[in-house]
Amino acid sequence: MSGIRPTGFLHLGNYFGAVRNYVRMQDEFDCFFMVADLHSLTTHPDTRELKINVQRVLAENIASGLDPEKVALYCQSHIRETSELYLYLNMLAYQGELEKTVTFKDKVRQQPDNVNAGLLTYPVLQTADIILHRAELVPVGKDQEQHLEMARTFANRFNHRYGEVFPEPKAFNFGDELIKVPSLDGAGKMSKSENQLATLYLSDDDEMIRKKVMKAKTDSGPSEPNSKKPDYIENIFLLMKLVSKPETIRHYEMAFNDCTVRYGDLKKQLAEDMVAFITPIRQRAETIRQDQKYLKEVMEKGAEKARRSAKETMDKVREAMRLNYY
Ligand code: AMP
Repeated sequence: MSGIRPTGFLHLGNYFGAVRNYVRMQDEFDCFFMVADLHSLTTHPDTRELKINVQRVLAENIASGLDPEKVALYCQSHIRETSELYLYLNMLAYQGELEKTVTFKDKVRQQPDNVNAGLLTYPVLQTADIILHRAELVPVGKDQEQHLEMARTFANRFNHRYGEVFPEPKAFNFGDELIKVPSLDGAGKMSKSENQLATLYLSDDDEMIRKKVMKAKTDSGPSEPNSKKPDYIENIFLLMKLVSKPETIRHYEMAFNDCTVRYGDLKKQLAEDMVAFITPIRQRAETIRQDQKYLKEVMEKGAEKARRSAKETMDKVREAMRLNYY
C-alpha cells in the first residue's frame, strides 16, 4: 500500500522512490495505491485545482506502467472508512511524539500561518491509510522512513490495547535500501514544490530536461586520480545510474578517476538519457489525461476494491474495540 499527494507534477523522486516499486510489486502482491488528496489539504487548502491534479497523478501512475486491472488504484477521499480509523488512531497518538516528527517541524517552518491539526496528525492519517488494508509492505522513498516507524508504533499500540488486528507495516524498496533522488543543484531532494528548476518532472518537455540537466552544479573536475566525489558530483552520477546504460556509467566513472572527465559531455549524455527515459512516460500520460471517462472508471473500480478491503478491516477494528453494541 502506498500513496502520492496530488500537490503538483510527479518527478523523478516520486518515480524512483515510489512508482517504480509499485509497478514491480503489482504482479507479485495484492496492491493498493492511492492519490492522497486528503493529505494534500494539510498544505494546499485551496481545492479548485484538486480534480485536475488528482487526474494528473492517476494518469502519470498509469503511464509509468501501473495497471488498474491488477491493483486497486483509487482516491483517498473515496474511502470513508479511512476517516473513521484515523479518528480511533488519534486517541492512541500523543502530542509529544507528533510534535517531534521531522516533517511536522519542517512544515511549521514553511507555513507558520497554517499550523493546522491535520499537519500535526499527518502520520496518523498515513497510518490509517496503510493499516486499513492490513498492509505489510509500503513502497516509499527514504523521506518516509520516520513516518513508517510511527505507523508501526500506532499499529502495535492498537494491537496491544485492543487485540491483534494489524500486521507491522514496513517501508519497502526492491533494492537494498530506500532511495532519495537528489535535486540537480546539489542541495536536498527533488520535490514537487521546492526548487522546481532543480527537479526533473515526468511532464517536462525535451528542451526543459536538457536545460535543467545542463544547469546542474559541477566544477572544474578532480585534480588527483581516484578522488572522493563532492556531493553534487556524486548526485549527478546517482542520476546517471537511474537512467543510463552500465557502459556509459563505467566510462564516466573511469574518466572521473583518471581526471579526464569533461562535465559538459557528461551532462549532455545524461540529458539525452533522461529525455529517452521521460519522453515516452510524458506522452502516454498526456493521452491518458485526455480520457476523462477512462479515469473516472479507474477511480470507481479502484474505490470499489479498496472499500471491500476497508470494510473487512473495520469490522475487525470495531469488534476488537467492542464498539459493536448490537
Ligand atoms: P509525495 O510527493 O511527498 O506525496 O511523495 C510520494 C512518494 O514519492 C513517497 O513515497 C515519497 O517517499 C517519494 N518521494 C518524493 N520525493 C522523493 C525523492 N526526492 N526521492 C525519493 N523518493 C521520493
